[in-house]
Amino acid sequence: MSGFIVSKDKPIGDYIALYLARSKIERAEGYERGRGGAVTALLIYLLDKKIIDAVIVTKKTRGLEGEIIVAKTREDLLEAAGTRWSVLPYTAKLRESLMEEDIQRVAIVGLPCQAQFLRQMQLYPLLETDFSKKISLIISLFCMGTYASEAFIAFLKRVYKLNPEDIIDIQLRGDTLYVKMPDEEKTIPTQEILPYVQLGCLICPDYTGIFSDISAGLSEVHLGYTVLIARNKNAVKIIQGAEDAGYIETKPGTLDIVEEVKFRAEAKLIRAVKYASMLL
Ligand code: SF4
Repeated sequence: MSGFIVSKDKPIGDYIALYLARSKIERAEGYERGRGGAVTALLIYLLDKKIIDAVIVTKKTRGLEGEIIVAKTREDLLEAAGTRWSVLPYTAKLRESLMEEDIQRVAIVGLPCQAQFLRQMQLYPLLETDFSKKISLIISLFCMGTYASEAFIAFLKRVYKLNPEDIIDIQLRGDTLYVKMPDEEKTIPTQEILPYVQLGCLICPDYTGIFSDISAGLSEVHLGYTVLIARNKNAVKIIQGAEDAGYIETKPGTLDIVEEVKFRAEAKLIRAVKYASMLL
């Protein structure tokens, strides 16, 4: 596993290119609600050009709930919504879909911990029937943590009088959680929600997903764009191919963007070290 390291010197791991990107496809921007839509557009490009057969991704169902789906068309992808506030177990769905004969090459969108699991499975296949060779691309979304859903839902109901089933979107920006409801947007200081972060997340050091091929997330300074981190030549080729084919537009990530992502990654690393030291 050499090369996959989060450290004070490399809080976002190794990479070869960093971009600001946004979708050029109608509706894809809406899908990620101002996040740039570049991940959706990239995946649509891969499906349209038959570079992959399917995408395994989380689809928001109701409020904070979601399910894992296998998207084989651009319509499937556009229907999938982006916000995840709990880690959904997708190993069973993964195995089930990768066993399908018409799926030979799959892209998977997940969180950094899931990207690590998938990469380990690829590097150390345990069974002859291992299906990890079908994984063509791993995309990891930036992650500061997910929430113990029942306790978090109870908190939202009790303190903010929110009905979790009506939540349209949640975004974490700086020290504030923005909760979009049908007729208002609530703001919640992150201090208040820290007790509801899953315990394992408090000792997780990886913000961007260093085990992925491409990491993607929001820039608070450049809203409307997606930050894309390409970690290998294949990732660069895919991003450039999507741009050449008119699915996304990109501009090189400038120093301020790199610093912004590193700042958040360092904050997560420091948090992990602090909580890990409490366990010793
Ligand atoms: S903080 Fe780490 S362990 Fe928690 S959901 Fe995110 S990537 Fe997974």
